[in-house]
Amino acid sequence: MKKIGIIDSGACAPEEIIMAAGFMPTRLLGDPTINITHANEHVPPNHCVWARNLLEQAINGLDKDIKGIISIHGCDCTNREFDIWLECIDLDFMYFSNVPLKRDHVAFRFFVDELKELIKQLEEKFDIKITKDKISEAIKLTNKIRANLRELSELRNKFLIKSSEFHELVKMVQQEDKNNALKILETKLQELNQKEPFSNNQKKILLTGSVIDDTEFIKFLENIGFHVVMDDLCIGSRYFLNNIDESLDPIKAIAKYHLEKPIYSTKIPSLERFNNLRDLCSKYKVDGVINIAQKFCEPILYDHPFMSKKFKEMGIPYLFVEIDYNRESYKQASTRFEAFSEII
Ligand code: SF4
Repeated sequence: MKKIGIIDSGACAPEEIIMAAGFMPTRLLGDPTINITHANEHVPPNHCVWARNLLEQAINGLDKDIKGIISIHGCDCTNREFDIWLECIDLDFMYFSNVPLKRDHVAFRFFVDELKELIKQLEEKFDIKITKDKISEAIKLTNKIRANLRELSELRNKFLIKSSEFHELVKMVQQEDKNNALKILETKLQELNQKEPFSNNQKKILLTGSVIDDTEFIKFLENIGFHVVMDDLCIGSRYFLNNIDESLDPIKAIAKYHLEKPIYSTKIPSLERFNNLRDLCSKYKVDGVINIAQKFCEPILYDHPFMSKKFKEMGIPYLFVEIDYNRESYKQASTRFEAFSEII
């Protein structure tokens, strides 16, 4: 199936429009096992390690089924990287989706126009028609997926699914055909609902921070004795906490959905992100919060002092770690995680 790749430092891609265009939206994710060489020729040394990794993969050659990419307005790294992609990657369709920074009524009107422009560009480039009926159909499907992910996420909290297994499922949904993804989620839910909880002597953690797409990192946390009962990650709850309103005009509904979901550090006012974290901490009664910054991830680095102060005021144990995008760096940071596990 023909695919459109998504470059997103958050979870703001209008997947339903891509689906209505007859393409499979597939989020581009990093690969922590590759060496970075070519990308270094295009970006400065302090460019985010994750975004650099995506660029390296693209220069080396993406999946042949990917006919275009849509880069979502996010952090400065991915925004500036789009120009580099235009210069060195050859694809039929390359579009920068200007998801607004703010969330007021002006931003809403801007975003609706922006989504209409994306539809127009896709229609012209691929000689197709993207109808509102097709978008509504796609919304129904992604809403079912979000509902299933919410149910599965709650099973994390009941110790019926490991956080690493859940993480794999969210990644699968963001990269695979949505009809297949829904079937996999439904089957998994049936299977888990017949299981007994596993040992729950692990520390209950809320995980936050940069994009975390390497499931080996979640397994690394599990091996130390943590269980991620909740997160506010883009490969996590920010992808499924809310549904798109099916009673509205579908384009307006998509804009509203993305502007009302829990805010990320790349948007304004970014510090409001703490409010969602605070609410999740009390709802899930976590033992502590782990905030991970991919190396040179400015949005998370800027948020950290504020988060640290607020969690201290609340008396919630909080650990901040900056990691490189390779598995050796997890091991190097292990003493910090182990020490945190001992104090909570
Ligand atoms: S990890 Fe941080 S700097 Fe890197 S793409 Fe994501 S938000 Fe941007």
